[in-house]
Amino acid sequence: MALQLSKHEPFSLDRIFYYQEQMLRKLVPHLYQNSPFYRKKLDEAGVDPESVKSLDDLGSLPFTTKEELRTGYPLGLMAVPEERVVRIHSSSGTTGKPVIVPYTANDVSTWAEMMARCMTMTGVTARDRVQVTPGYGLWTAGIGFQAGAERLGALAIPTGPGNTEKQIEMMLDLQTTVLTATSSYALLLAEEVNRRGLRDRIKLRIGIFGSERWGEKTRTRIEELLGIETFDIYGLTEIYGPGISIDCPEHCGLHYWHDHLLFEVIDPVSGRQLPPGDEGELVVTTLTKEGMPLLRYRTRDITRIIPGQCRCGSPYPMHERVLGRTDDMIKIKGVNIYPGQIDHVLQITEGAGGEYQIILTRNMGKDNILVKVEAAKDQPLADLAHRLRKNIKTRIGILVDTEAVPEGSLPRSEKKSKRVYDYREC
Ligand code: ZN
Repeated sequence: MALQLSKHEPFSLDRIFYYQEQMLRKLVPHLYQNSPFYRKKLDEAGVDPESVKSLDDLGSLPFTTKEELRTGYPLGLMAVPEERVVRIHSSSGTTGKPVIVPYTANDVSTWAEMMARCMTMTGVTARDRVQVTPGYGLWTAGIGFQAGAERLGALAIPTGPGNTEKQIEMMLDLQTTVLTATSSYALLLAEEVNRRGLRDRIKLRIGIFGSERWGEKTRTRIEELLGIETFDIYGLTEIYGPGISIDCPEHCGLHYWHDHLLFEVIDPVSGRQLPPGDEGELVVTTLTKEGMPLLRYRTRDITRIIPGQCRCGSPYPMHERVLGRTDDMIKIKGVNIYPGQIDHVLQITEGAGGEYQIILTRNMGKDNILVKVEAAKDQPLADLAHRLRKNIKTRIGILVDTEAVPEGSLPRSEKKSKRVYDYREC
């Protein structure tokens, strides 16, 4: 079923949409027949599954939300007989029940294939040694990277998360060439390698980092400290895991695998489909997933489809790096802002580092926002704070308090860095 495209294939968004339309025509009746969850949902929405012929018709189909997946706990969304399910993974359940995702053997294989494509896109080959520092177990990250590396024929070093001492020992002894990590753990490792003066003894050349948004400044700092090129990888547990899209050597967007995944961008408030190029919430329909297929799944991630072909020549379409999440949207002083916008301002602010925090407080009914930023090496802090305040006013249109702190003084994390601290009472 997989559509293998080569670089010689000319890029055409129309052809991609045509291909996806053909897949969609089969998908909706298939879901209606095989998934009790979707049969009920389509019936309730009054949709005749045979009537879905084009991508425009997609707009009339109901969305699937994370809350619904939780309601189906544990295996309510399984769309195949259990004998075909070979594995489950689970999203972290920070609030309420987690989501359990069943995978068939084909799903496991498709995911490994997508991960291998991701790695190939970044330049990883069978001769590389890939250190896998994301978590294993119910998490999708560790096993996903490992399966991709193995599919490619590379050597996987499954260290798993934490234990920086062991990570560095493996990196030196095995001469790791590719590091996979969350960006905050990559930063922690990079700073440790630098502190110990090991830069000349490591052989890293590529870093593949994901699972959180990370700004250009953090990227540059990791690249400089480790002497590597870094790539952003995207994915969600509900849809395979990491590896549904990846940065390419041009670094101007992430390529996604349109033969397995149909991407739409919608207005998060009205739910209306937006044309390619417009920014909104990413909605994903799985085209080949068997264990738990998803129809119009709302990711809550903010991005846009990039029209046109990438300079790298890849025939796969692209989306913008994720700017933030719809739930991270901060409403302050009547303006909606995403942490991603602060990243953008930091990029153009001279002397700013990549680490920052957004702290929201309320005093006498009035909202206050403080942006705390790390300075790049030995920058005068007061000047930096002043420049940042001015740039945020010009670029985002709001007046905020700013504070610059010395490099390395904001907390580093082995998992995801927390950016927004909201102390306002609801
Ligand atoms: Zn590209």
